[in-house]
Amino acid sequence: MPHVPAVLSPRRKSRQIRVGDVLVGGDAPVTVQSMTTTPTTDINATLQQIAKLTAAGCDIVRVAVPSQDDADALPIIARKSRIPVIADIHFQPKYVFQAIDAGCGAVRVNPGNIRQFDDKVGEIARAAKDAGVSLRIGVNAGSLDKRLLEKYGTATPEALVESAVWEASLFEEHDFHDFKISVKHHDPVMMVKAYRLLAERGDWPLHLGVTEAGPALQGTVKSATAFGILLGEGIGDTIRVSLSAPPVEEVKVGLQILQSLGLRERTLEIVSCPSCGRAQVDVYTLAESVTEGLKDLTVPLRVAVMGCVVNGPGEAREADLGVASGNGKGQIFVKGEVIRTVPEAEIVETLIAEANRIAAEMGPD
Ligand code: SF4
Repeated sequence: MPHVPAVLSPRRKSRQIRVGDVLVGGDAPVTVQSMTTTPTTDINATLQQIAKLTAAGCDIVRVAVPSQDDADALPIIARKSRIPVIADIHFQPKYVFQAIDAGCGAVRVNPGNIRQFDDKVGEIARAAKDAGVSLRIGVNAGSLDKRLLEKYGTATPEALVESAVWEASLFEEHDFHDFKISVKHHDPVMMVKAYRLLAERGDWPLHLGVTEAGPALQGTVKSATAFGILLGEGIGDTIRVSLSAPPVEEVKVGLQILQSLGLRERTLEIVSCPSCGRAQVDVYTLAESVTEGLKDLTVPLRVAVMGCVVNGPGEAREADLGVASGNGKGQIFVKGEVIRTVPEAEIVETLIAEANRIAAEMGPD
């Protein structure tokens, strides 16, 4: 039986919106988003990156729209992408209308900016409603309204939430409710506090993000820590891990976070021991070789790679497939039973062959 994880807390009750054909909020599964790094005007490169993200398991993709040429590229990108595309627009209402007409699933927008420069909030709300396009209000510590920075001194959680609630009210005044909100901060503690406060203020679906989280290791840890706390409390409907790394890495990390929290069915899970003085085999190389050999497996499978016979047989028995190594050999377990003992040199190939055999028996996912 595949491992069926338990979740920490029931989900907060949020209203449900639609981003293209993907539901966000309510009882919809928590989704993973990323953002392309190619110039949006380079349509081929952007579509290629979106295809890679889709293959990695990304549910929704966002593209930056800083110029007229980027806005002009949206119709083809939105039509050819297999996952919903969100246009990320900061100041120009004109591009928002174009993104809505282009068939984007949603638009990320800051109504505060739009009102400040060219009050078209009502028109945007009407156009989005007519087209069935949702919006995201993206409040960010780095670009907080001057008025709030003066009031709070710095981008505190309270300041982020005040900004978000005010921006939400600009749409709500026009009876528009199909939007989600993010209140991003680079500091996970501030970010967690902001989302907790915001979650109490309304039933908006929430997009979680630690902004400018940093290079891969730091960004992964910051995002996993903050998302783990919030999702563990049932807060959050869609997530974006921000890394200074290729966006496919963001998706892999996002999916791992959801799988670790029991919010996404686990695919391949390698249970490998950290190794210690008792190890009778090179556990790191063994675990890496097995992970690499099984990276394309999409069925839920738990594979235990253990370095000795102390904890090895116990963990290997609990997994769908496992090895307990020792004395130059590996005891291979399938569903709790030892099926054979192989020489150390054959452990990796045996595990990969058995994993593929089990996967084939499970059928396509
Ligand atoms: Fe050490 Fe064995 Fe445990 Fe691995 S399984 S950490 S080698 S005791």
